[in-house]
Amino acid sequence: MKCAPAETDFLVIGAGVAGLRAAIELAAAGRVAVLAKREVTDSTTQLAEGGNAAALSDEDEIHLHLQDTLSAGDGLCNPDAAKALLEEGPERMEELIHWGRDLDRHRTKLVLAPEGAHSRNRVLHAHGDSAGREILRALQAKAKTLSNISVCEFEFSTDLRVEGGRVCGMHLLSEKGEQQEMTASAVLLATGGLGQLYRNTTNSAAATGDGVAMAFRAGAEVSDMEFIQFHPTALYLRSAPRFVLPEELRGEGAYLRNLEMHRFMPKYHPMAELAPHDVVARAMVHELEVSRAKDPVVYLDLTHLNTQPVKARFPRIYATCMQFNIDITTDLIPVRPAAHYAMGGIRTDLEGRATLPGLYAAGEAAATGVHGANRLASNSLLEGLVFGARAGRKMREALRHAPAKLEKSPRAAYSNGPVDAGTEEIVREIQDLMWQDVGVVRTGAALQRAIQHLETLSPRMAHALTRRTYEARNIHLAGLLVARSALAREESRGAHYRIDFPSHNDVKFLKHSIIKGDSIRFA
Ligand SMILES: Cc1cc2nc3c(=O)[nH]c(=O)nc-3n(C[C@H](O)[C@H](O)[C@H](O)COP(=O)(O)OP(=O)(O)OC[C@H]3O[C@@H](n4cnc5c(N)ncnc54)[C@H](O)[C@@H]3O)c2cc1C
Repeated sequence: MKCAPAETDFLVIGAGVAGLRAAIELAAAGRVAVLAKREVTDSTTQLAEGGNAAALSDEDEIHLHLQDTLSAGDGLCNPDAAKALLEEGPERMEELIHWGRDLDRHRTKLVLAPEGAHSRNRVLHAHGDSAGREILRALQAKAKTLSNISVCEFEFSTDLRVEGGRVCGMHLLSEKGEQQEMTASAVLLATGGLGQLYRNTTNSAAATGDGVAMAFRAGAEVSDMEFIQFHPTALYLRSAPRFVLPEELRGEGAYLRNLEMHRFMPKYHPMAELAPHDVVARAMVHELEVSRAKDPVVYLDLTHLNTQPVKARFPRIYATCMQFNIDITTDLIPVRPAAHYAMGGIRTDLEGRATLPGLYAAGEAAATGVHGANRLASNSLLEGLVFGARAGRKMREALRHAPAKLEKSPRAAYSNGPVDAGTEEIVREIQDLMWQDVGVVRTGAALQRAIQHLETLSPRMAHALTRRTYEARNIHLAGLLVARSALAREESRGAHYRIDFPSHNDVKFLKHSIIKGDSIRFA
């Protein structure tokens, strides 16, 4: 099958864990085109080093994993979504092992590791710290055996095509900058997260919120956009990407030290370095603010731990830091918080159906409510597998809507010419603004300022012609959605922290935020 043909049965935008898992489910029912905007290896899934959680040990039970998930979600998880995740998770994992996924074992037994906020040892690792890469390898290998699946790289989706109120395809920009259209019976957005809204992020460069922005522009509802998880410990070096230094390092005994070399976490939380992510991130932001340095950092310190076990347990982290001349066993590691995971996204039911007929979403781009106000670490790869498969199963029913034969819609000419400096300037401006005013710690005044600033940029976003200007437009729109939701939620909950409303307000806000067009509601 030709890559990116004009017509297919199912269109899957995104070749990460959620998109590939959905495609495998769909292949039995018809032709599936899976599109990725860059190489298939350029996804956040590829970057996931930690692992994925599953209640597989004799001491563990699904209800304990559920309790931990609900408690991390701070009252806002959709319990049915969380149950589906954890009840179906082990089956999805076993299937993946059957398809060739490698996992760390002691002799023949799977190693189940501890992780912060998990009450039992239940995190499965692959090659020490390459969980996502190994999941992708197994899914890609399985997809290759299914002749109905075509995976097309460098196909950039610009917007959904909607006819008579039903999503029936996609507008695309090919690698050469040619405009194309594809029609399908159903479209799945599995475009990942939106970390690139922020100056500091652990996400891949692809995480520009394209799916959320495309769905919103087409008229779908988005939900829980205010809940952005900030990873406390991302490598902070000018020349280096914001590589995650996972909490397992703190689990192994690493300390956080400020510029004065004081171990500061014990004064913020009884669990010190093992406090929840958001507590650690806020404590770090405070330490950075009170420091008088021009470009302050906090240090992660493993120098008191035994060298060999650290190297053996974290080979990829060790090797990556060595590329930047940091030996994690002898040197302090400069770190800062960075945007890491979006709990919100395109609002869907538990079958992946968005609020527009013909449109589905799964993975980080979707909001099923499974993570509530804060994701339990290591639940999101599992989410991609479980809800990707569920969406795929449901989409099969859409086959009765034969792909529409569409007239070509008139569109402006595109170009993939050199990225103009103006676009990069605007992206940086938005990223700085989001970091400053819609970041780890928020206030009503700063959020209002951010919204006004973003609105003044709107006219410059109106005419996207290149991939990068499309990405800029999506970053801008997704940024507005995050800021609007954060302003409306006048309380603190999970990953959303407002200085002016530091407590929960269950009466008004034990609900999901939902935005459609200009209206925002809580339900
Ligand atoms: C550093 C890091 C470590 C992590 N570690 C863990 C962990 O240990 N355990 C865990 O459970 N979770 C972890 N996570 C989170 C987890 O990796 C992600 O939530 C998950 O992989 C998202 O998968 P996805 O399929 O939804 O999206 P992604 O894997 O991000 O895939 C998105 C796909 O969409 C495509 N795409 C996007 N926009 C377009 C467009 N406009 N046109 C065409 N294609 C498009 C991209 O090319 C890509 O193929 C980690 C995240 C990070 C950043």
